[in-house]
Amino acid sequence: MPAELLDGKAVAAEIRADLTDRIVAVRSRLGRPPGLAIVLVGDDPASEVYVRNKLSTAEESGMSVSLIRLGGDTTLATVLETVRALNGKADVDGILVQSPLPARLGSDAEQQVFDTVSPAKDVDGFSPISAGYLAQNRPGFVPCTPAGVIEMLDRCEIPVEGKRAVVIGRSEIVGKPMALLLLRQNATVTICHSRTRDLPGVCREADILVAAIGRAGFVTRDYIKPGAVVIDVGINRVTDADAAKRLLASQPKRLALFEKNGSVIVGDVHPEVAEIAGRLTPVPGGVGPLTIAMLMTNTVRAAEATAHGNR
Ligand code: NAP
Repeated sequence: MPAELLDGKAVAAEIRADLTDRIVAVRSRLGRPPGLAIVLVGDDPASEVYVRNKLSTAEESGMSVSLIRLGGDTTLATVLETVRALNGKADVDGILVQSPLPARLGSDAEQQVFDTVSPAKDVDGFSPISAGYLAQNRPGFVPCTPAGVIEMLDRCEIPVEGKRAVVIGRSEIVGKPMALLLLRQNATVTICHSRTRDLPGVCREADILVAAIGRAGFVTRDYIKPGAVVIDVGINRVTDADAAKRLLASQPKRLALFEKNGSVIVGDVHPEVAEIAGRLTPVPGGVGPLTIAMLMTNTVRAAEATAHGNR
């Protein structure tokens, strides 16, 4: 029997619906809606799409959202100055600086930005203070993508406690916080990366497998324990026709879409995994929508802290 697909869009809609009353309460307490500021540096086309989605979701949710666009020639000093100014603005509860920053700003530019965002407004959860709170199992902002995965497991009533969980990827924004959150939920957690030996064998031990690698269709059926829950975080744009044919052989509609558009988005998990997994998040429509829903949740939490004088 093919895996049950976990519907990220539906879960994201539930999460957002649950925020409605909280947004109304913030409005009545502060006399304004929760406020999110997004800083976009340069003109990366993928970032433009992500930012547009975040803006429209925030607006639809009844929040106030402002976009600060900085040109591709902006200096890092200006980006940091912009963040500091937002740290001081009373009507901004949450700050998000869209990644990636232009490469010419330097390899540690993003870290400097994360170090500068006020921890009270760190709705992306990337500041070292937020990361420290997560590592110490204390309340704080958690990166949106792994937080969304936990929310999905919870809302889909997938038990985590006592399960073997394997996370492929150890980035600061997905893999590492994902592993810490699964640990917080009392899973027995293994983190894998590019130097892991016998990766398929380690993954086959997983009751819950999270793939956050950034390689199209990398996780094939020999990585999967029959019946496992497989969470595909990957977002990969495939433009090569042979690769698209290989990956989408069982999905003629999506292959036709590739032939029409010349590109297609696929996850890190090969579609053949659906034949062996118990439950699986699709790409698109799985983890992606949850990330934005959790950004909204974090922004409402930041505004609630302001409303209750905790900031
Ligand atoms: P990243 O920073 O590039 O990290 C990738 C991780 O995968 C690294 O830890 C790397 O190991 C590991 N890896 C790479 N090749 C491997 C291999 N052959 N075997 C085992 N491990 C390997 O990427 P990221 O930012 O975490 O993102 C991962 C994916 O998630 C990307 O496709 C990204 O687009 C997607 N993403 C999706 C969302 C969403 O909303 N759905 C949000 C964020 C990211 P090393 O550490 O050893 O190099």
